Amino acid sequence: MSDKKIIYRTYKYRLYPTKKQEAVFNEWLETCRRLYNYFVQQRFEHWEIEKHLPKEYRVYKSYFDQCKQLPELKKDNHYLKRAYAAVLVNVAKRVDKTFSDFIREISEGNSKYGKPKFKYRFYYNSFTYPQPGIKNQKFRIEGNRLYLGKIGHVKIILDRKLPQEAVIKNCSIKREVNHWYAHISFKQIATIPELQVNENKAVGIDLGIKTYGVLSDGEEIKNPKWLQVMEKKLVREQRNLSRKKKGSKNWRKQLIKLSKIYRKVRFQRNDFLHKETTKLTNDYDLVVLEDLQINNLVRNNRLAKNISEVSWGFFQKFLSYKVNEKGKKLLVVNPRNTSQICSNCGEMVRKSLKVRIHECPNCNIVLDRDLNAAKNILQRGLEELRSSIDNTVGLTGSACGEVSKETQGSKKFVKTTNKPKLG
Ligand SMILES: [Zn+2]
Repeated sequence: MSDKKIIYRTYKYRLYPTKKQEAVFNEWLETCRRLYNYFVQQRFEHWEIEKHLPKEYRVYKSYFDQCKQLPELKKDNHYLKRAYAAVLVNVAKRVDKTFSDFIREISEGNSKYGKPKFKYRFYYNSFTYPQPGIKNQKFRIEGNRLYLGKIGHVKIILDRKLPQEAVIKNCSIKREVNHWYAHISFKQIATIPELQVNENKAVGIDLGIKTYGVLSDGEEIKNPKWLQVMEKKLVREQRNLSRKKKGSKNWRKQLIKLSKIYRKVRFQRNDFLHKETTKLTNDYDLVVLEDLQINNLVRNNRLAKNISEVSWGFFQKFLSYKVNEKGKKLLVVNPRNTSQICSNCGEMVRKSLKVRIHECPNCNIVLDRDLNAAKNILQRGLEELRSSIDNTVGLTGSACGEVSKETQGSKKFVKTTNKPKLG
């Protein structure tokens, strides 16, 4: 039996633009940033009037309204003409997305995204070429070059091939401090084999700080040493940043230094996570994890906690799309008491976080604390599997993880009350 599924993926490739091309990239980012702020401002002004009207009389400024202004804007602001038209249209699309979220939230009365924000310099880091047309391709891969409309051929490192049946959706050019990347998004109709889960090929994993993960069969996923060293460095440099005067020259310098370390950590961590999750999904039919949302075991300083949580989040995300592709299963179970209950007899054996060994007074079994937890996690997963034949397999995710959590908290760079103006 097999199943056809549409999978959305994004592959990330390193770009090596020439000095001239890099200058154009930077110029376009600034162009897009100004346009973005201009459109956001316009939407706010419009909203200020509209919000006093009863709902049924409101006419929201739309994506199309703003796109229609582009030819007129170009007449007065010549630099807009230098950027690729479709890239500017995409700016309007982004503004529309943030505003639709904002207005929907107001009407629903919650505030996850909050008010759309103006983008300050250095905080607008990508522009997007939309779906390539059949006749007039806006971007395409030619050998080891990425052709971009109005820019030309940029050197690209194609370290992984796009699947043959991939339908390309769009291409974003992204700046990460001083490196450039192309994020190519595509969809693909994949045939996924429907697998009968073999219970003997099931594993529970207890994720932790010291050892990355303990498997229910006694195996361990070791934390790579270099990653720990880098993470410590990250904590230190973050502390250095907080000591500097926000917005000052030294602060900016430290921010760049920190961003570079972040990037390195992200690379190393993703590399490690890809290897481990590939291995797991090759070896097992069913992988069971604790629900990270409820798990609150990490008692460390805040950044260290953040790093672990981000890392576990990606671990789960990578596992999720890999099991999906291979027709295997990932289950996420309630972590309640997994470290307290005896995995052998079910007795509740209370112990504090310091106690690393599980010793059961009822059945006399002695186990490593985390191994006991992993065994409980597996049992919960198997129970869930047996009780529902129609389990959801998990979400498809993108191949390259975007770390939004890591960049939060540094967004408020140089506040200004000036209205954004084009020009
Ligand atoms: Zn026991």
